Amino acid sequence: MLPIKSAMTVPLCKVEDLWFPDGNVIIRIGDRVCRVYRGYLASQSPVMADMFSITQPSEGADMVGEVPAMRLPDPPEEVTHWLRAMLLPQTFPSYPNRVGPDQLLSVLRLSHKYDVQYLRQRALHHLAAFFPTDLAAAQAWDGTAHYIPLEETELVEFEPRVSAIAHEVGALWLIPFAMYDLYSWTWAEAHDIATVVDPQSVSSLQAVLYAYKVAVHVQNCFIAEDWLSGDSPSNCSSRCLKRERYRILDDHDMWNELHYGPLTFYTRGSEGVYNMHADSDLCGDCCRFLRQTYSEKCTYFWNRLPQAMGLPPWTELLATKARDLALDTSDA
Ligand SMILES: [Zn+2]
Repeated sequence: MLPIKSAMTVPLCKVEDLWFPDGNVIIRIGDRVCRVYRGYLASQSPVMADMFSITQPSEGADMVGEVPAMRLPDPPEEVTHWLRAMLLPQTFPSYPNRVGPDQLLSVLRLSHKYDVQYLRQRALHHLAAFFPTDLAAAQAWDGTAHYIPLEETELVEFEPRVSAIAHEVGALWLIPFAMYDLYSWTWAEAHDIATVVDPQSVSSLQAVLYAYKVAVHVQNCFIAEDWLSGDSPSNCSSRCLKRERYRILDDHDMWNELHYGPLTFYTRGSEGVYNMHADSDLCGDCCRFLRQTYSEKCTYFWNRLPQAMGLPPWTELLATKARDLALDTSDA
């Protein structure tokens, strides 16, 4: 927060919907000004309350017209989203109502920074509904069925931002799936990773590093370790598993699918990913055996995903998530 001079040299631009004529404090961000209620903001944000208490304006200084002013160092777009969430609460409804991605991340970041717990929690509920933290939800995930309106190309730009903000606010539980999905999009070359990330941005580079670590983990779990080479159950005489193995190795699309979507490789037959029963002529025993082996691989991959990325284990991440969302874990 910086003091602002009474003699403004730049023209200031009122934010219309955040200009209350009877407001008693001006929040200045860049060349934008909002006229809002000091006591109300202080009641919502202990940090703002402290800031107000230590910046009693002396005569003439820190004033815009007759009203004391305070400058915030945060990006103007973020501050206006955040002030609206507090002062015009219908603009930032609870899940499952829709909220915009920029609005969501702005409200989360500043609610954390200025300690507005109920809005931080509301924002995290939206993200918790979006980014799964258990294997079954990750395998069922459909990026289009959600309440944060994002096109596919916006999603791959959104995920590195979520990862960066998750670090900033300590919600690391958001990162494993977000980065698994980013890895998946960029590995599949649906999106060139060079267009998704900004090499000038530390958070972008961090996302690339995470995607790389996910790739290594996929390699270790699903590719390098030849889980398809196991013996068929003893009562199979037709060497089904060997045939299935060669089917995957010989089919470019299947082989790629195993790389970029290992968790859904055998699970979403109706959506074009491989259906063991429909596409293979595995005998019943081999099908059950392979389903079990594959399922164990997915569990192994998922359980170790956070550590493979250099994050704390799921137990720790899920405990943080429960606190972040204020879930009652006494039954767990
Ligand atoms: Zn068989």
